[in-house]
Amino acid sequence: GEPPAENAVPQAGGDGLVLLRRIGRADPESLDGYRALGGYTALRRAFALGPAGVIREVLDAGLVGRGGAAFPTGRKWEATARQPERTHYLVCNADESEPGTFKDRVLMEGDPYALVEAMTIAGYAVGAHRGYLYLRGEYPRALRRMEHAIGRARTRGLLGDDVLGQGYAFDIEIRRGAGAYVCGEETAIFNSIEGMRGEPRSKPPFPVERGLFDRPTAVNNVETLVNVLPILERGAAAYAAVGTAGSTGTKLFCVSGTVRRPGVYELPFGARLRDLVELSGGVPEGRRLRAVLLGGAAGAFVRPDELEIPLTFEGTREAGATLGSGVVLLLDDSVELPRTLLRIAEFFRDESCGQCVPCRVGTVRQEEALHRLARPARTEADAAGDVALLREVGAAMRDASICGLGQTAWNAVESAIDRLGVYAGDLPADGLPAAGGPEHPVDG
Ligand code: NAD
Ligand code: SF4
Repeated sequence: GEPPAENAVPQAGGDGLVLLRRIGRADPESLDGYRALGGYTALRRAFALGPAGVIREVLDAGLVGRGGAAFPTGRKWEATARQPERTHYLVCNADESEPGTFKDRVLMEGDPYALVEAMTIAGYAVGAHRGYLYLRGEYPRALRRMEHAIGRARTRGLLGDDVLGQGYAFDIEIRRGAGAYVCGEETAIFNSIEGMRGEPRSKPPFPVERGLFDRPTAVNNVETLVNVLPILERGAAAYAAVGTAGSTGTKLFCVSGTVRRPGVYELPFGARLRDLVELSGGVPEGRRLRAVLLGGAAGAFVRPDELEIPLTFEGTREAGATLGSGVVLLLDDSVELPRTLLRIAEFFRDESCGQCVPCRVGTVRQEEALHRLARPARTEADAAGDVALLREVGAAMRDASICGLGQTAWNAVESAIDRLGVYAGDLPADGLPAAGGPEHPVDG
């Protein structure tokens, strides 16, 4: 097969790697290679523990979701497992469409059997016999690797009617996304799999009660699932000994932007943002760091004097930022921030599914205001008016949108205004040339 992608090579060095330990070391197409490096010991342990025992370990390990929202995985599994319906489902969210996020791709391309094994364990724990892998459409290599691994696992009795001869039936079906950001939202995934438009549903009811085909469903991100392997292999206590009390284990960080060594880095929770900036070589020679976007387009900008922020869910929250899915996007002083903000606003306007008014209208009004703010002829008073309008629109989107897209569409812009002071004297006196953005008409 093809060699692993360049950026699949862990950049932080070999020692201490947990999630990336096999990447670049095992042939992603070889099941024997996977087993030789510890593969399938976690599933054996799972069968020995039983479903409730597996959930206990995951709870004790303190694992929380790595898709961005950090919900406790054990609680999600417990809630799914206890539903009385006969049919339960597992969905692995591999849609990974947050701009700047590429960790799940590296895992699926470089260690596909790990996800097959982890999905099997999750399915066993929640009482599901079918798992769906909802895979981002733009990941053809991950698709090939996952199809291959699922096929091999089936022929070797690691998926199918009687997994490992333990009397448990489980199989995995791949469904591909078609490029819509909103289809990574868990309930939009259900609609997409069920053959409807990929629009989010209102929550509650949460998927643990009524998910795919209205059945109890556990939805987990790729990186979250892969963490279950070291938890079962090493035990919950050993797993939880790494990281902090609120954020246990290690985390994959996606470093990109104007940075010398972009890539996926694995660090224990609790490392500082500064450590990651240094590991990745920082901004290019002769440049100054202007800001770091933490958590992606749905996240927040932080300043270069805030690099002591601990990379934990609780630490970033306390700092008024978010770890999200692990995006760390460096921006040096050559970057025109108003343009970056416009790009982000344009993204949300494009990707809004249009189902609810605050998001459908709000993302358009936000982009328009940012266009006006970037124009050279704007006066101080006009700028203040547009910033006030952005706040009002942003609050409405945050409070009244159905799903995370609308709820987070103003986060980055707000942080750029409040933390970076982007429209307070930072803009060159002559502003930016009007970027030619049309004022988008809105119906409704
Ligand atoms: P959420 O907080 O609504 O839910 C998080 C998870 O917990 C969901 O699976 C939800 O069903 C479950 N949950 C929450 N409360 C529950 C309860 N009371 N009972 C049972 N289950 C419960 O967040 P979300 O909208 O699913 O996700 C938002 C996050 O997604 C943001 O943090 C954003 O950073 C991230 N995101 C990630 C990507 C990516 O590519 N990885 C893309 C876009 C957004
Ligand atoms: Fe669609 Fe936006 Fe409403 Fe989400 S918040 S349902 S993306 S319109």
